[in-house]
Amino acid sequence: MQNISAFKEYLNRPRKVIIVTHFKPDADALGSSLGLAGYLKKKGHQVTVVTPSDYPDFITWMPGNKDVVIFQREKPQKPKQLIAEADTIFCLDFSSLNRINDLGEFVRVSTAKKVLIDHHLEPEQFADFEQWDGTAASTAELVFQLIDELGDKSLIDQDIANCLYAGIMTDTGGFRHSNTTYKVFQIAGELVALGANPSKVSKQIYDTNSIERLRLMGYVLSQKLKVLPEYRTAYIVLTAEELKNFSSQTGDTEGFVNYGLSIKGIKLSVLISDRRENIKLSFRSLGNFSVNDMARKYFDGGGHRNASGGQTKLSLEQTLEKFLSILPEYKEQLLAEEN
Ligand code: 5GP
Ligand code: MN
Repeated sequence: MQNISAFKEYLNRPRKVIIVTHFKPDADALGSSLGLAGYLKKKGHQVTVVTPSDYPDFITWMPGNKDVVIFQREKPQKPKQLIAEADTIFCLDFSSLNRINDLGEFVRVSTAKKVLIDHHLEPEQFADFEQWDGTAASTAELVFQLIDELGDKSLIDQDIANCLYAGIMTDTGGFRHSNTTYKVFQIAGELVALGANPSKVSKQIYDTNSIERLRLMGYVLSQKLKVLPEYRTAYIVLTAEELKNFSSQTGDTEGFVNYGLSIKGIKLSVLISDRRENIKLSFRSLGNFSVNDMARKYFDGGGHRNASGGQTKLSLEQTLEKFLSILPEYKEQLLAEEN
């Protein structure tokens, strides 16, 4: 953080802190928030984590989960009041206020000091303090670095370490994606030294499937995964009815998009699903092909170069049509050979 000494001084007084994650938080959003919350509580601050929406069951083991305020489940008064009373708002794992839906306006107008900790591309400028790094693999590692810069690494206990480790593990796809750097291993290693348990965290996140989710995955892989070799592209389209037929819960489709990218020769993979309130798109790519550009330009979204998301208010069919219609624009990039 650039103004770290001012930030350190700011935290010398006990603060009323809200930590906000993005809509449908993943393990990095919730893990970095609960890890930070654990640390700030140890420093004597009053801390509440607020999520705009619910989140998958496979991250509810995280220490501090039971105290999370889920905006969608509350009468708007409670989070509204929490935000009105807060003197400090941390925004974690997102950098544009439209990623927190209705909460965005409360945060925008709040007079609290705002702190951004994030690694998404093209951040909005709204924060007083920023720990932003577009090259970081996860927000969790930025929280680790911030605690370290504040001279408090020794305050990271097993609970905090497990939360942060979970964020790093998932945002690197289990230490496999191109964002898996030496620094990632270094920080993950330090977290293990501080008590994180890799096999336990991995079991909780990757191996606690419901049978319905596995059946949905089987159906998707056998019936729904389509390949367009001429564009080195794979895509999956899921209707609301299909999701309902498999009793799909929040988080059940997470990771499906990676199967498209696991096919030899495929450079772009997309999952398009009907969430009823909107159509959600999940993009993954390899190498220099930027799904961030594609998601921003056509699907009101963004993210990282190789992992982004977006949405439309079109029908499912129209969304697929739109996606297919823009592929020729990207054909040259998709077919370009890379070393
Ligand atoms: P996922 O496909 O796993 O939902 O998201 C991939 C990445 O894109 C994540 O870093 C996520 O935060 C980001 N992302 C997902 N949906 C959206 C969206 O609608 N807008 C923006 N700006 N980013 C998104
Ligand atoms: Mn993240």
